[in-house]
Order: sequence, then C-alpha cells, then structure tokens
Amino acid sequence: MKRTLLVGGVNSPVRTFAAVSEPPLICSYARGSFLYDTQGNKYLDFIGGWGALIHGHSNPRIRRALKKVQTSGILYGLTHDGEEKLANKIKSFIPFIEKIRFLNSGTEAAMTAIRVARAATKREKILMFSGCYHGHADSFLTKMGSGGATLSLPLSEGIPHGVLNKTIVIRYNDTEGLRKAFHDNPDIAALIIEPVAGNMGLVPAKKDFLTEARKLCDKFGTILIFDEIMCGFRASYGSVAELYNIFPDIILLGKVIGGGAPVGAIAGKENLMSLLSPEGPVYQAGTFSGNPLTCNLGLAALIEIEKNRNINHLENLGFIMDSILSDTKRITFVRLGSMCCLFFLSEAPENREDVDRQNRDVFSNFHKKLRAKGILIPPSPYETWFLNTAMKERDIKNAALIIRNTAEEVLNT
Ligand code: PMP
Repeated sequence: MKRTLLVGGVNSPVRTFAAVSEPPLICSYARGSFLYDTQGNKYLDFIGGWGALIHGHSNPRIRRALKKVQTSGILYGLTHDGEEKLANKIKSFIPFIEKIRFLNSGTEAAMTAIRVARAATKREKILMFSGCYHGHADSFLTKMGSGGATLSLPLSEGIPHGVLNKTIVIRYNDTEGLRKAFHDNPDIAALIIEPVAGNMGLVPAKKDFLTEARKLCDKFGTILIFDEIMCGFRASYGSVAELYNIFPDIILLGKVIGGGAPVGAIAGKENLMSLLSPEGPVYQAGTFSGNPLTCNLGLAALIEIEKNRNINHLENLGFIMDSILSDTKRITFVRLGSMCCLFFLSEAPENREDVDRQNRDVFSNFHKKLRAKGILIPPSPYETWFLNTAMKERDIKNAALIIRNTAEEVLNT
C-alpha cells in the first residue's frame, strides 16, 4: 500500500528506521514472540511494543480479557470497577504508592507530574538528565534520549524559550554534577529521572547516585520523580524504587501496566496526589483515562507477572543471553530483568556521553544484518531491547548466538 497520507509514512518518528538507513517495517500480524511483515518475513521481536509487551503478542490471558471487554464495553467515559482492580494490583507490586491516577500515555504522566511538583513547591525549575526521555511535553524536549537522539535533534522547534529555560539538564550518574546543580539552583521544583535509563540504550543509575538524589531533594525541598514508564515491571517485577529501596515522591508508570493498550499513570504520596483535580487545584483530565480496555488488559498482564513460572522463565532467558553475550571483546552486553542492550563499547556506559562514543555505521550494519536473519532489535543504538514471556529458550539461544556472531562480523569489516 502506498503511504502518502501519514506524515513521514509513520505515526512516531523512530518507526521510519531512518537512523539505520533501512526501509520501515510494515507489520502484518504478530503472534507470541514473532512479528510478521507484509512481505512475509518473520522476526523474533525484541522491540516488544517498545517495552509494553512483557508477554509478547496475543497472550491467552490478555486475549480472554479482550474478549470480556468486547461484550462489556470498551469505553464508558465513566467510573468502573476495573480501574480500582488495576490500581490495587499495581499497589500489590509497589506498596509505597498511596494514590494513583491513570492517563493515556507516558507523556501525559510526566507532564502532569511536573505540574503537580510545581504546584506543591511554588517553584518552576525542573532538573533532568541527558539521555533520559520523559515523553514529548515541552519541558522535556531538550538533549533528550532515544527518538530525538536517533535523529540528532538536540531540541524541538515550537517550544517557547520561557519553558525550556526552566529545564536544567545534567549528566546522568554524575554525583558531583548533581550536587553542583542544586548548589547553583536551590529552587528546583522537581528532579525527574529514569532510575534505570532505557532511552540511551540500557544504562542503570548507580545506587549511590540515586541515594544522593533522594538526599538532595529532601534537603532542598525538591520533589523526586522516578520515571518508571519503561523500567517499571521490567528491570524488576515491580518498581526500581522497591528494588533499590530508594523511594521517590512520585512514580510514573506506563507501557507494561496497559497490557498492550495505551496507558500512563502517576502515583505517589497522598499529599501530592491530592493536589490533582477534583481533590485539588492542579487540573488534569482525559476522555479515555482509565478506560475498560486498558484496565482489563493491564490487569491480565500483571496477573501473569505474579506467576513464578513467568518470572523464572524471563530470568532464564536473561541468563541465556548473558552467558552467550557477556564476555565478547569490544562489545558490552547489559541486562537488567527483561531489559537488555548491546553496546559497541568495551565497557558499560554510565551516561549518554559514553553511549555517543559508539560508531553509528557499525550499529546500522549490525541492525541490517540481524534483520535479514530474522532478528528484530530496535532501529537505533539509543533504544533498549526487551525479552518477553512468550519467547522460547531455544529461540533465544539461537538468537544470542546469531547476535554475537553478527556483532563480531560487523566489527571485523
Ligand atoms: N518516559 C519513558 C521513560 C519512556 O520510555 C517513554 C516512552 N518510550 C515515555 C516516558 C513516554 O511514553 P509515551 O510514549 O507513552 O508517551
């Protein structure tokens, strides 16, 4: 089909595959861990709906939930029990949250979180880190991760200077830089961070760094926001906050908690969350927020994560990847839970500046060759790869061997 009406032929920039100089992949259907394009090619799918599909495509429990929604209603635009069920299920994984609001995307969650933080502190400045991505709201589109980095756009046009001037961007995992930022700007409303960054490849924050962030936020009265939209239920099977035992004031969730349907969520301490309308003065609303489709699919996805066999299976897949890819020269494989990434660097990067040292041509070549061999990794060196419970051990073993050989091959050409 000719794609003349969609801007750039896509509905989200990274889908062009322009960064790897390839044609876009036009999907036909997907089942289990495989995705099929309109030309009849079959791929083992490491993109996984950019992290959302922790159970791969067409998981039976999620299909049953979908069937239920088909008969009970996709959208009411009104309150229903499914919202509370999903909220309770999330709380069972992330007990520190006291209140939650569902929205329709991660972008909305991050945008709302800084509005709450600004209202709570009566301040305006936001502190974020280069290489992190928090969606495409105005305040965050500066030195951003993944999509923007892929297209080498340091910032977007169309954003008032007055908005971007309020955003301070510093280096990830740089404790001294963090201290200096607070010293120079004691009036920061919110520090927002991906505690495990997945938008510059996979770069976990060091625990000491996050501890210092928590301390500085307490000292300066700044709201600490963990953006776990990608790493939540992925880096561990709950939140990174619980994993590291470092608790933010606000946590953002998305992707996995929607079971494949559009979702975002902001959650946290009652005193902050109650600033949101209708309880408080911070306005936020949504026609589709907390809709039955998302809530039922999300609940099904989280029930599946409760099953030990699924967690063990994901861990096994991870160990297989580690065992084959870990000690390969000139390449570094990083994995945490069901997130992973291969860097063409001899050491694991600690920040975006380290990640930038990779040779983009090598990555493009690598991507192209893997695609030809039926392995679909994200079309950018700034994206994380995802494992899912539908993947079979033998497929992962084969894939890991192909990935290793292909990486060595492209490095030697
Ligand atoms: N935050 C993080 C950490 C993300 O990875 C993303 C999306 N990749 C977002 C926010 C934005 O979410 P959405 O695309 O649902 O708006």
